[in-house]
Amino acid sequence: MTLPRLLVLSLGGTITMTPSASGGIAPTLGAAELVAAVPGLADVAEIEARSPFRVGSSSLTIANILAVAADIRAAFASGADGAVVVQGTDTIEETAFILDLVVRDARPVVVVGAMRGPQQPGADGPANLLAAALVAASPQARGLGTLVVLNDEIHAARFVRKAHTSLTSAFVSDNAGPLGLIAEGRPRLLARLAPAELPPLEGTGDDIPPVALIKVAMGEDGRLIRAVPGLGYAGLVIEGAGAGHVPAAVAEIVGEVAAQIPVVLASRTLAGPAFERTYGYPGSEIDLIGRGALSGGFLSGLKARLLLTLALRAGWDRAALKAGFAAFG
Ligand code: ASP
Repeated sequence: MTLPRLLVLSLGGTITMTPSASGGIAPTLGAAELVAAVPGLADVAEIEARSPFRVGSSSLTIANILAVAADIRAAFASGADGAVVVQGTDTIEETAFILDLVVRDARPVVVVGAMRGPQQPGADGPANLLAAALVAASPQARGLGTLVVLNDEIHAARFVRKAHTSLTSAFVSDNAGPLGLIAEGRPRLLARLAPAELPPLEGTGDDIPPVALIKVAMGEDGRLIRAVPGLGYAGLVIEGAGAGHVPAAVAEIVGEVAAQIPVVLASRTLAGPAFERTYGYPGSEIDLIGRGALSGGFLSGLKARLLLTLALRAGWDRAALKAGFAAFG
């Protein structure tokens, strides 16, 4: 029987970490060692294992993940059936969303990590990696974009979020729940998600436009928001209170900034859409949209920042930005 062909790329993270001279654990293992440590993986797929990075995931950059996307596209062009990206859980939701936006292929891309190091009792890395490979090799997972698999759950890149610092059940999909699970050694998809219809996101060159992300808190006076364009940022995402709100005193500042660079509203509640047409007081979403801000729909602040970054890199104009964020509304 011919096995499916998978590319496994390891970027680091707890799943690769062993005790170091620092007194804590640090990334040491590569993709080949991770793959070799999983019983049964050789029966799931023929694997090409590579280790482009060995870092804690908070050190990964958008440029790093675009390079990973290019590797995946190249593997797909030469006939791979799926891809697994192994990395730290801290930024998995960001990596998965970037890959979801830019790989755009029916073949599955699965991002996976572990909450426990390989030498801890109950290490979850091997089970997670096996589950990720099962999903990436599954014809059922085709057309779902990029997925995140941990704790035997299958999450869509668009919805997944790390919601706990230590539990193996740290990952949730706030707005929809997981798309499925792995049971008895096979993926069971319970829901399907159509890819968002977006203007093209292919950018050129290595330049990544800097986009700021600011969470609004009670009594905020707007000085950070006002400073954003002058600091060289090309865009701003505001994680507003509730459905995307700021204090009345900050509304005018948001308007001043929106006249200079694109400003997108997300919700600091992390679930539900940023509104567009409900509240009409100063600092509300209707007020801010009237001053030039855009609603980020269901995207979290982190994911709205990534879409805005890639959109600016691709040269989207205001109409394209509006349509692009509306695709997540
Ligand atoms: N700090 C680690 C990282 O993101 C956490 C993990 O992998 O679970 O690299």
